[in-house]
Amino acid sequence: MTAKELKVIIGLEVHVQLTSLKTKLFCPTPANYRESPPNTHVCPVCLGLPGVLPVVNRKAVEYAIAVAKALNCEISDKLIFVRKHYFYPDLPKNYQISQYIGPGFTSIAKNGYVTIYVQGKKKIVRIRRINIEEDPGRIIYIGSIETSPYSLIDYNRSGVALLEIVTEPDMENPKEARAFVEKLIAILEYLGVTNPELEGAFRVDANISFEGYGRVEIKNIGSVKDVERALTYEIVRQRRIIEQGGKIERETRHWDPEKGITVPLRVKEVEEDYRYFPDPDLPPLRMSREFIEKIIKSMPELPDERIERFMKQYNLDEYRATVLVLIKWLADFFEETAKMYNDYKKLADLLITDFLRWVHEYNLSPSAIKATPTHIAKLLSLWDKGILTSKMVKELLPRIVLEGLDIEKYVETTGYVRITDRSYLHKIVEEVMNENPKAVKDALSNPKAINYIVGLVMKKTNGKADPQIVKNIIEEMLNKLREGS
Ligand code: MN
Repeated sequence: MTAKELKVIIGLEVHVQLTSLKTKLFCPTPANYRESPPNTHVCPVCLGLPGVLPVVNRKAVEYAIAVAKALNCEISDKLIFVRKHYFYPDLPKNYQISQYIGPGFTSIAKNGYVTIYVQGKKKIVRIRRINIEEDPGRIIYIGSIETSPYSLIDYNRSGVALLEIVTEPDMENPKEARAFVEKLIAILEYLGVTNPELEGAFRVDANISFEGYGRVEIKNIGSVKDVERALTYEIVRQRRIIEQGGKIERETRHWDPEKGITVPLRVKEVEEDYRYFPDPDLPPLRMSREFIEKIIKSMPELPDERIERFMKQYNLDEYRATVLVLIKWLADFFEETAKMYNDYKKLADLLITDFLRWVHEYNLSPSAIKATPTHIAKLLSLWDKGILTSKMVKELLPRIVLEGLDIEKYVETTGYVRITDRSYLHKIVEEVMNENPKAVKDALSNPKAINYIVGLVMKKTNGKADPQIVKNIIEEMLNKLREGS
């Protein structure tokens, strides 16, 4: 068997900050540290000073339960925290308060799943567990990690609430891994527990191996796009080693997004020994059924439910519904526009292709988009009425997105409308056919070649000619030529 035929196995571990929380996980220190100078969002608890006591943030637990439910997990009725020990300057207590599944311990949730949709295929990715834990501080290097003469430490992030979400190794290629992270982020956004746009709000560690070979862990991937890039790079690297008869080291690698490569961090000989033990400062809490049920009842509509609703209410297929719903602001935009315009399929197509492309092209955040649902509804209506051609719609769209161009006014004042005047178009067709005798000869024997002449006429009219009328005129003229010969 060659490396090309070997199965690739990918599992993910995602750390998500609950950025909607006002305070940290175990102390009342404000959690919105991003704009602040280093070490200003700290208190004795998150600095790990002796003699302090952590008190769990109730809202964090409520968020975790909502996430667990949204990821179809079994939710524990006990809340148990453990100490996970390791020695590193970002961790002032020398242990992280986390959760663990083992005798006498449990995570807040386990055994869930997420449905993803990749290239027309539906797939289930199982969730192994969800832990609530605290974020460590941040080590800052001067320049790069290799050349920095010293390192600085910022404890603003220390103690911020995280969820650690671990999947089973159910993904087989980088596209599936990316689709999983996209879906996960969408779910968290719908729940309103995190803002994925914030720097460092989610970090992905990926485990990847070829079946039967050593497993490599890639640490700290910071964007959806980089999940796919890092895994694609790693597949190429590992495949080359296997094909040359080499051995895949079991190791941890670091993703360098600038260079687009992974580099070795450390070789893993054995599982690290974290000496987990129950945190005596945080005795186990029983969570009542009512407490859990109340949270579940107040959950908003989630992506899967919205996809179903879009399919029913707007008669969209699963693909279109999924693309729209996974980008929450786009789905909201769609629904607003759908109140004014009812060819939903046409609307969905415009939004998920050209509209989204221009938003990305101009690198616009949702709030910077100047186009409103009214703009798009008007544009589509003018297209339906035949006042604009599809080419004109494509041409005007970037200006609507970027400037909020009022399309009705524009058409009125500039006379930028589709040309339907038969005698005028007849003249243009005649010109084009005279200038292109070879194209005419082709079209006489091959009906498909007519489209080439239609294209030339469209070009000559800057895309404003009505293509159907042009086609009819060309056919008539070709028929006359056939009769004449
Ligand atoms: Mn963790």
